Amino acid sequence: MMQTPLLLTQMIERAEKYFPKKEIVSRTESGIQRFTYKQWGERTRRLASALEKLGVREGDKVGTLAWNHHRHLEAYFAIPCSGAVLHTINIRLSPQHVSYIVNNAEDKVLLIDSDVLPLVESIKDELTTVKAFVIMTDKEKLPETTLTPVYHYEELVAEGDPSFAFRTDLDENAPAGMCYTSATTGNPKGVIYSHRGTVLHTMALGLVDTAGVSEKDTALPVVPMFHVNAWGLPFAAVWFGTKQVLPGPYFTPKILAELMQEEKVTISAGVPTIWLGLLKELEQNKYDLSSLRYLLCGGSAAPRGMIKTFEEKYNIPFRHGYGMTETSPLTNISTTKSYQENLSKEEKLDLKAKQGILAPCLEMKVIGKEGEVKWDGKEMGELALRGPWIASEYFKDERTKDAFRDGWLYTGDVVTVDEEGNIKIVDRTKDLIKSGGEWISSVDLENALMAHEGIFEAAVVAVPSEQWQERPVACVVLKDEMKESVTKEEIYEFLKPQFAKWWLPDEILFLNEIPKTSVGKFLKRALREEIKEKIK
Ligand code: ADP
Repeated sequence: MMQTPLLLTQMIERAEKYFPKKEIVSRTESGIQRFTYKQWGERTRRLASALEKLGVREGDKVGTLAWNHHRHLEAYFAIPCSGAVLHTINIRLSPQHVSYIVNNAEDKVLLIDSDVLPLVESIKDELTTVKAFVIMTDKEKLPETTLTPVYHYEELVAEGDPSFAFRTDLDENAPAGMCYTSATTGNPKGVIYSHRGTVLHTMALGLVDTAGVSEKDTALPVVPMFHVNAWGLPFAAVWFGTKQVLPGPYFTPKILAELMQEEKVTISAGVPTIWLGLLKELEQNKYDLSSLRYLLCGGSAAPRGMIKTFEEKYNIPFRHGYGMTETSPLTNISTTKSYQENLSKEEKLDLKAKQGILAPCLEMKVIGKEGEVKWDGKEMGELALRGPWIASEYFKDERTKDAFRDGWLYTGDVVTVDEEGNIKIVDRTKDLIKSGGEWISSVDLENALMAHEGIFEAAVVAVPSEQWQERPVACVVLKDEMKESVTKEEIYEFLKPQFAKWWLPDEILFLNEIPKTSVGKFLKRALREEIKEKIK
């Protein structure tokens, strides 16, 4: 067979050629803007030529600090398709982490949303490699800023060359993108995505049994474009000619529900906290979301109770996926096989709450105390992965040797595998509760708690115990309307039939909020600190 390189350039050229009339809907600071793929392609070429004029060369890193909108999508292709490297930066990280990331990646140019300016200004003196700042704004005039040299994104685009030629001669193994993990401990770790890896991952998103992204879909990525490339959806949408709806800055559940209704969104993707928020909105106001084919949920375990409410009460199907920054991200997705169609509703829900089977192209092994675990749904071990869209190292980081060994990525996630090959995440190694020589899964307890009708959110953490080493404590946020009526005793009664006695939390604390990471996951480190006082 021929050896033609797998490059992102093929995606944008396909969109321009076959889908010029298809639409990109972009919510920005000033409202909704609409572009066809033809207009977007032209703007992307103009941007690429402008970046070249600014001195960006093959292999240079260009950082973005931006929400999900059309300009970010332009950067997604202008940068890698001209041979440079798209480095998406999480705008919710601390200033110290952002400056570490920009310096570690050696970003040459930064593209910045105007509302993120204060963050970048606060670290400008620490940045050692940045030669130019480009501000993305709808306003004609640049906002006041202490950054220099600074350029107006729209002026660069206006002056750019609409027929700029993208690179078709790149090595498919050349870097196309880069992203850092959001670092719950220590500095974030960088991962480089090659053109080849991204193309193959995107192809997998098009498979019917994974995400099945198609030309007929309208996709709304809620997951930020700085969080593992919005799980690859922007690439898939461009390549397959899918209409995209980009929700922009400071969206609320109400804004999401309205966009879904008005634009007739068929697929959307986000972390569980996003969907819990949407659920709250649906309970308060009426929307027609019948266009939705599914909501894709990942990043943390999708609570079973939440899946049930979406599917049974609102008739909105759910897909539950698993992945990491290091894995592009999608590796596993929940499935019901054809011969399982006659399972009961509850059994099907149990399957959906698992993280599912491995996508084609990838390999996994699960290493327990005595080698590879049995596929019995019980024995636990650490999940290791390999394949063409799994990273092989961290960028300039000695922590590479901890996670990447013998050609495998050790995920740090403890899982079981059932007879059908579905994995179930028991916990992150560091969140597992080690009680009296046995393990307790915080994820299982959280899932059970969040299935209680009065509970909005729940996180379970380990607290030190002299007798048992560690014991679970549950932190619970009640639904507003149930705040007065739900008691601790009632929650214990609800849990008892579901767990062995020694699994039950030693304490149930009612909180107003659970601290979250920059990408909306429960921040257990902060939670442990917060509750220290309360459980003395
Ligand atoms: P960070 O490591 O900064 O949180 P990632 O988004 O890369 O950023 O997180 C990957 C981790 O998220 C996985 O290692 C796993 O622990 C968790 N995770 C991802 N998807 C799921 C899921 N569906 N169920 C449970 N945990 C998940």
